[in-house]
Amino acid sequence: MELDAGGTPWLSRFKDPGLARRLIARLGRELSRPVRVMEVCGTHTWSISRSGIRGALPEGLELRSGPGCPVCVTDQTDLDRMIALAGRPGLVVASFGDMVRVPGSAMSLEEARALGADVRVVYSPLDAVALAGSTGSQVVFLGVGFETTAPVAALAVEEAARRSLKNFSLFSRHKLLPPALRALISDSRTRVEGFILPGHVSTVLGRRGFDFLASELGVPAVITGFDPVDILLGLKELVGMVCRGEARVVNAYGRVVREDGNPRARAAMDRVFQPADELWRGLGPIPQSGLRLKPEFSPFDAEARFPLPDPAPRPLPRGCSCGEVLKGILAPADCPLFGRACTPERPVGPCMVSSEGACAAYYHYGWVPAREGGEGR
Ligand code: SF4
Repeated sequence: MELDAGGTPWLSRFKDPGLARRLIARLGRELSRPVRVMEVCGTHTWSISRSGIRGALPEGLELRSGPGCPVCVTDQTDLDRMIALAGRPGLVVASFGDMVRVPGSAMSLEEARALGADVRVVYSPLDAVALAGSTGSQVVFLGVGFETTAPVAALAVEEAARRSLKNFSLFSRHKLLPPALRALISDSRTRVEGFILPGHVSTVLGRRGFDFLASELGVPAVITGFDPVDILLGLKELVGMVCRGEARVVNAYGRVVREDGNPRARAAMDRVFQPADELWRGLGPIPQSGLRLKPEFSPFDAEARFPLPDPAPRPLPRGCSCGEVLKGILAPADCPLFGRACTPERPVGPCMVSSEGACAAYYHYGWVPAREGGEGR
């Protein structure tokens, strides 16, 4: 780890160390008692780890990582369904790259590909539509993501319908963030007193989409951008509210996020999808927290077109703590497998695979478990 001129490692990772030092000092002045808050989103987790913010937090402030990594919260049974789809002869499975390496019960999509399955990595659901248009094979896009990616998946289905494609379908496991936050708050083991909310989901839902946190649940929250300075400003605002006993949802990313979000993106989702009960890895079943295709789009529904038996639920590997990590009950480095049996080269759980996974972020930036004398928070 690099040291700055004053011997303080984390400052060296900021473009303006003086500003970072002042923000941390102001954050410390807001903290009048021990507080635990959560950054919900994996992109925030990586920015916090990369910048070294976690190691610079004032004593008494715990910052836990949350369930905002779509690959990580995809349940094992759904992953097994995707792998079973990939095993069908003549079928092309198109996926975002992160999904491909996540271990299923028997194998990953990458291993299925090594055994002959046709698994392609794409960067957008529209790429999968283009692929279907250029081949005679059936193409199934694996729809994984939150309100940021679901509108594009909706547009892809509409584009396939417009082109009357008979060989494109969507396996939708898109998820909605607000019901997951309700579930987190209702779990007393999480003990989170406030949220740093993702800037990108907020561009779709708007500040108003998260207002229920304060108005119904009495939980303060701050929408921030992904620059480390944005995150420090958001943390200062959030910790101040928690310590003063205030509950508001503050938009600290006003240069991007509007009060009402993006109505056109939400309209695209509403045209194509309907809410459904959804199973989340770590969080379990959450009512009305997933998105499935509306009946009028059933010709593009991979589950209707290629029915699969329900995979038998299998226990996660012994010692795997992904569920507790995704709820913020444990810090990644406190999983007994972290850095030992589970590394990015040989991942046991999805949190060590995904580019938004908390375990991968902690590992990559050298976080040391509390049991080995590190800060572990
Ligand atoms: S270290 Fe590995 S097994 Fe443990 S919680 Fe993280 S991803 Fe799961």
